[in-house]
Amino acid sequence: MSRIVMKFGGTSVGSVERINHVADIVRSEVDAKNQVVVVLSAMAGETDRLVNLTKDLSKDFPASEYDVVISSGEQVSVGALSGLLNSSGVKSQSLLGWQVPIVTSSDHKSSRIEAISSKIILKLLEENNVVIIPGFQGITSEGRVTTLGRGGSDTSAVAIAAAIKADFCDIYTDVDGVYTTDPNKVPDAKRLDKISYEEMLEMASLGAKVLQTRSVETAMNNDVVLRVLSSFFRYW
Ligand code: ADP
Ligand code: ASP
Ligand code: MG
Repeated sequence: MSRIVMKFGGTSVGSVERINHVADIVRSEVDAKNQVVVVLSAMAGETDRLVNLTKDLSKDFPASEYDVVISSGEQVSVGALSGLLNSSGVKSQSLLGWQVPIVTSSDHKSSRIEAISSKIILKLLEENNVVIIPGFQGITSEGRVTTLGRGGSDTSAVAIAAAIKADFCDIYTDVDGVYTTDPNKVPDAKRLDKISYEEMLEMASLGAKVLQTRSVETAMNNDVVLRVLSSFFRYW
């Protein structure tokens, strides 16, 4: 038995069909008797829509309430997947950032994770639940909702993997691994079998958004084994 964190990005949960496919991937890990924590992004396009909503409302929209608005897309995806899994016989429970809790700094729009309590997550895993947690969101020690910066669900996944001592943190996305450069822009980019934390950190900080820079830092500091996999391809 392994304990794994599986993170699915926006395109991977972008439609009813895609969410059903994610449920199939999660079920395959449950069937293999693994303990599974799933971290989800908002459905593709949803965070941009919410950002635009705040801009349309006011050019001085306060950062603290901006975080309340733009973190909401993730609440929809975790409830959707957990409901779907339960209705198909896979025991699952969602935990929002404040329920875990994932405690962050109070610099809204780009907060840093300071602490994650593993207690409730581990209890739910012991009771044979898949635990489904929204990426990107947290709560300050004063109880305000925060977000981790765009692309921050990668960092949520890695930090949760470190907190629960997961064997792997699998980042499922719309490409099948890390390439020498963006494969959607450069057709002859080569897929890398392995990459060091240092090299990945450099690529991410130069703009390779396949992994948010802070997620690579967090993985390096906590020895989290990261794998980048495609949610559009069947591995099983
Ligand atoms: P998600 O929504 O799953 O978080 P992102 O769009 O944030 O996905 O990241 C995946 C994208 O990263 C890919 O579609 C690809 O275009 C881009 N990308 C940029 N650089 C690289 C790279 N070196 N290797 C792989 N993908 C890359
Ligand atoms: N939904 C957030 C974003 O679009 C976080 C993420 O997807 O990682 O930036
Ligand atoms: Mg991303």
